[in-house]
Amino acid sequence: MADPFIELKGITREYPSGEGTIAVLKDVDLTIDDGEMVAIVGASGSGKSTLMNILGCLDRPTAGSYRLQGREASALSPDELAELRREHFGFIFQRYHLLAELTALGNVEIPAIYAGADQRRRRDRAAALLGRLGMTERTSHRPGQLSGGQQQRVSIARALMNDARVILADEPTGALDSHSGQEVLRILDELHAEGRTVVIVTHDKSIAARADRIVEISDGVIVSDERTSGRCTPSRGAAAPAAADDAAAAGALRGLLNRGREAFRMAVLAMRAHRLRTFLTMLGIIIGIASVVSVVALGSGTQQKILENISSLGTSTLQIFAGTSYGDTRSGRITTLVVDDAEALARQPYVAAVTPAVTTSVVARYDSVEANAQVTGVGDRYFDATGMTLVEGRLFDAAAVRDMAQEAVLDENARDALFGDDAAGLLGRTILLGKVPLRVVGIVETSQTGPGGSENLTIYTPYTTVQARILGSMSLRSITVKVDDGVDTGLAEQAVTEFLTRRHGSKDFFIINSDDIRATITSTTQTMQILIAAIAVISLVVGGIGVMNIMLVSVSERVSEIGVRMAVGARQGDIMQQFLIEAVLVCLIGGFLGIAAALGFGLVFTLLDTGFGLVYSTTSIVAAFLCSSLIGVAFGYLPARNASRLDPVAALAKG
Ligand code: ADP
Ligand code: MG
Repeated sequence: MADPFIELKGITREYPSGEGTIAVLKDVDLTIDDGEMVAIVGASGSGKSTLMNILGCLDRPTAGSYRLQGREASALSPDELAELRREHFGFIFQRYHLLAELTALGNVEIPAIYAGADQRRRRDRAAALLGRLGMTERTSHRPGQLSGGQQQRVSIARALMNDARVILADEPTGALDSHSGQEVLRILDELHAEGRTVVIVTHDKSIAARADRIVEISDGVIVSDERTSGRCTPSRGAAAPAAADDAAAAGALRGLLNRGREAFRMAVLAMRAHRLRTFLTMLGIIIGIASVVSVVALGSGTQQKILENISSLGTSTLQIFAGTSYGDTRSGRITTLVVDDAEALARQPYVAAVTPAVTTSVVARYDSVEANAQVTGVGDRYFDATGMTLVEGRLFDAAAVRDMAQEAVLDENARDALFGDDAAGLLGRTILLGKVPLRVVGIVETSQTGPGGSENLTIYTPYTTVQARILGSMSLRSITVKVDDGVDTGLAEQAVTEFLTRRHGSKDFFIINSDDIRATITSTTQTMQILIAAIAVISLVVGGIGVMNIMLVSVSERVSEIGVRMAVGARQGDIMQQFLIEAVLVCLIGGFLGIAAALGFGLVFTLLDTGFGLVYSTTSIVAAFLCSSLIGVAFGYLPARNASRLDPVAALAKG
């Protein structure tokens, strides 16, 4: 003989109660045949719903065996039970358990979504089912806009969505007026007539009388099981709709995509339903991402600016100054650094080029304009070594240095101060430095780091000219040494120090190593950047905790929704996915807005004309996006897992 359709043997269901447990079902044996209509009756609290939930695989018995078409179901995993619910059972609850934010059609579709059916198919089928139940006009209404009887019809359509063989109705008319109740019972009769198995829980004797069989339960024990006569045997299977297995038709991958898309849609719906809360949650992420991106950009901007400034020192250059440090008040009187030193250094094997420099301050005069200017006497290699940019005219050459030529190269500050609006055609004009006339041959960009910074007016002339014609002294202010490529500047610095100390008899100079400065600045700004970025990351983590917090609230608010979804066959993974997607979406949108805010901040910064801009790296923006989705996953995981592990029966009871 074939296995019975449904077979319960020795089913016991216990709940923990105080110290011990209470048994709600005690050793229940029950067999239900395919196509039967069974009424379960009994007093309130007798265990009818508990039995129903076990029948529908929503709940598992504490002990005993449950065989569905010969397959043992009492030891299945949550996802296997979900599959049984999805494929075989349609639940109808006393309180409908529809999802408030979905339309009637949307509610009916849900079981097919978890079965992986594609959108068009399930829309058509849901509409057809609603049409059959007289709800054609109401497909786009939300549950709140429907009467109780209409809501119950929606829930019946939902139960039929995956063409369930077994309809489980737990007091389906309990909340309805008698007319709507009769309507629902008529539909159940019809489903029975189609060949479906219908199990209906009721405490109304007249309703029970419609069934083939009445099972009475009292205190968790079946006390009577009677077959009533007079009911026609259903035309088994005849009118049953073809069991179109949407999932198989759609293919596993398509099904997965459909479910994913649906989870996404649900996440968006949930976010829309709580706009303000979602935005406030996002705010943490927005601030975190905006600060990380801006701080990194600000850091790079600062670093770039500083490196640009010190690039006037050139790379691999040593600047030798008279005195013991910048602040040495006697440095002006130290006269031991001389051109001979420069020439001797130039002969060292590790030196590529040497340019001596001598500086002094004089009154520069053109026409009636007078200004204090810094005169920097340099060699012809100076401009090369320092990477200065020529704006106009030419620079002076080696011959000019040898001949103490009376030529001057002005920086832009000096040009503006002396010539003002009259700057056109200034090349070849003569200016006076003190009493010495010099011809202007070129204009260079203002150096950002020259002695005294960018505010100075600087005039460059051959150092020989300054020594012989202006200062009348042969000592130098500084010597710039360009170290040969491939020679370590640190070693070269040591060699120069030893060399000059020997020549002078004492160390009456100090050396600034451009590579050292660059390295120091780079590492300092990097350290700063890491430090501030670390603070920003902390704010991101705080934002993430905010997301987790709100997701936990969201899960607890939607426990009954989760219960409904599980009842109609959602897997644990489906629930998990829905909440994870929500968390990741909040974070991603937050990340996007955060990046936009950071870019906006950069724009304001540029408009304020602070002299340097923010340098955004694609890496930091991409990293910000990755980071925000990662936060979504990391902090959304716990709430999503909590949601997916809810017990369906307990979750439904919260509704
Ligand atoms: P009904 O026949 O009214 O549907 P139920 O099956 O819902 O009865 O409940 C049967 C008994 O089991 C009741 O006494 C109820 O208090 C108890 N019960 C139901 N669910 C739980 C639970 N989660 N924890 C403890 N007791 C429960
Ligand atoms: Mg009940």
